[in-house]
Amino acid sequence: MRILSYYVLFTLESDGLTDYKEFVKGEHVKNGVAALEKKNVRSLAVLGKFGNSVSSTSRRILSEYAKHKKWKSHLCRFIDIPDSVEENTILFVYGWFGFLNDDLCSTVTVQRACHRLEQMLNNTRSVKVIVGMRSDLRTRYDKYLEEFTNLLLHKAIHLDSENVNKDVEYLKFFEEKIKNPCEDGECECKHLTYDMLQDGKDKNVGIPLILNVIARYHDLVPNYRKDRDILKALSDHFTALGENNDMKFVYEWIIYICLKGKFSRLDLFDEKMVIDVGLQIRKDTFNENEVHMQRYIRMRYSDQHNNVSAEEAQYVFWHPFIYICAFHSLYQKDRELIMRHCNVNAILELVRPRGFKTSYIEVSADDHAVNMFNNRLRENNLVEKYKDHPLVKL
Ligand SMILES: [Zn+2]
Repeated sequence: MRILSYYVLFTLESDGLTDYKEFVKGEHVKNGVAALEKKNVRSLAVLGKFGNSVSSTSRRILSEYAKHKKWKSHLCRFIDIPDSVEENTILFVYGWFGFLNDDLCSTVTVQRACHRLEQMLNNTRSVKVIVGMRSDLRTRYDKYLEEFTNLLLHKAIHLDSENVNKDVEYLKFFEEKIKNPCEDGECECKHLTYDMLQDGKDKNVGIPLILNVIARYHDLVPNYRKDRDILKALSDHFTALGENNDMKFVYEWIIYICLKGKFSRLDLFDEKMVIDVGLQIRKDTFNENEVHMQRYIRMRYSDQHNNVSAEEAQYVFWHPFIYICAFHSLYQKDRELIMRHCNVNAILELVRPRGFKTSYIEVSADDHAVNMFNNRLRENNLVEKYKDHPLVKL
């Protein structure tokens, strides 16, 4: 019974029935469904910048299409594509090039996934695929993707275009969910304007995500107003959480999930790491802290969609961006902790060696940190696997 109630709580959260608003334009969903209805269109790419509702728009197209055609639907990451699917199935494939960011050595895996999807389409008559991908990555890796534009990536919906109607909807959300509910007359949100959200340092992040983050964590308004940088404001929020004794265990769970990348009740709890890092949480304290954790994490969408039980499901931060901010906060505080204990995928996706141009969401590592990571890869025989990454030394 207890388990059931947790499941319901997380489901509500990820359905957006609490305060998470998915800005999905009906027009995009309608166009997407209409495009897929054409017999010769077997696949649709949904492209948009980070935080511009790529995933939620894709999921909506998936479910509308499946409902309309009475088809089955399936969600998976590009590394988890099933060997085969039944006829009359629509798939949504996400996480291309990496879950948080591109890991700089995933082009082979991406091409393999594209081949697999094309094969699947060739071997079936009525299977369709939605590819959700970051628009900047689609452009950056164009030469690796162009061979797949006949069957797989030939049709696309672009979510980045400027649109006056969208601004009206965002402004309404800004007033109704951020400014109006705040009863503190002295609060800095009274001086925050929608224009400020549009021309800060965080231009690489879509407005829908910025709005959702500020709506959920109102306490970061003063910092946001000062720096106009949502990544900095949210990573400072995590740092402050670490200094709040009442939230000690919540913060430790955030560290745990950041280092491991996810939590599942079924997975082995990494006691060795917990001791090495000096955390005091135990596996059974997850449920006790769950109420507070809900602000930060949810069940993985694919688990929720594919009806995985709460016991088996994986819990992750509610958006990759939230993970990235927790990572930045920890990295600033203790980069050795990250390089020694954080999951290798996150490091490959977010850390670049010194001298390498870093983007907004990436961090730079000095030689000491790079060496530490390479020692770890050598101990685990992973050097060969990731040898194309600039962090890895042969
Ligand atoms: Zn306020």
